[in-house]
Amino acid sequence: MNWTREAEEAVKKAPFFVRRRVRLEVEKEAAGQGADRVLPKHVAQCRQKFLSGKPVESKGFEIEACFGASGCKNRANGSEELAGELETMLLRRDIAGFLKERTNGEVKFHHELRVCFSDCPNACSRPQIADIGIIGAVRAGIIEDKCGGCGTCVEACTEGAIHMDRGAAVARIDANSCVMCGKCIPECPSGAIEEAQKGWRILAGGKLGRHPQLGKEMEGIYSREEAIKLVERCLELYFAHSVGGERLGAVLNKIGYDRIKS
Ligand code: SF4
Ligand code: SF4
Ligand code: SF4
Repeated sequence: MNWTREAEEAVKKAPFFVRRRVRLEVEKEAAGQGADRVLPKHVAQCRQKFLSGKPVESKGFEIEACFGASGCKNRANGSEELAGELETMLLRRDIAGFLKERTNGEVKFHHELRVCFSDCPNACSRPQIADIGIIGAVRAGIIEDKCGGCGTCVEACTEGAIHMDRGAAVARIDANSCVMCGKCIPECPSGAIEEAQKGWRILAGGKLGRHPQLGKEMEGIYSREEAIKLVERCLELYFAHSVGGERLGAVLNKIGYDRIKS
């Protein structure tokens, strides 16, 4: 649904970690009134409802995203399609029903499973503290035959992950320092840096609260299909081992992160 600029400004006042949810509620409000675009009054009406304490039905999970889709030039991978597929899968798994059982019917904000997307390693939406964090990634590769050894890419990489192999007069990427942002690819004047792999880095088990922790990254870059399978596996473990609605991170601390891939 389209938003007026004023409505966009108004919704920015909501804290970023609930903004996606607030946007959905506002769009629901506008659609319910037969509007085809969101106006500031729809944002105000939602805010009023929230302040009056009217409960908002929880889906048992929340998907958050960075602002990559608004045209951010740092974007390594676009999350819309994967986010849509994950949402369908999560709705099908009825997390709200599961949480209602485990929490005596009281699903609160802190019980919800949070999936957070960042479309590049800058990680503006803080995927490290979500139950599942998903980061857009591009692995760059040097095509040695094309490399003229100009060194432009060495200057372009802010991670210091590229150096010149003086013996071979070609650039080399240090995989341990590369954060897979893909920014060096368009910088090469000879077209000698290719997109060797594009996909997603995945973290699991991040959380805030009384015992905060960062999510642990599963080594590698994953395709859309692989990412969905990994999230499904996390969900399976969560359903099997979460007692009283404890978070995925607490479950994985208990049973071991290696269970995700075993
Ligand atoms: S995480 Fe990257 S793509 Fe997303 S808004 Fe931040 S800089 Fe842009
Ligand atoms: S910018 Fe391209 S041509 Fe120049 S050193 Fe890097 S890879 Fe080689
Ligand atoms: S992908 Fe990013 S971090 Fe990796 S070598 Fe290129 S610019 Fe550096």
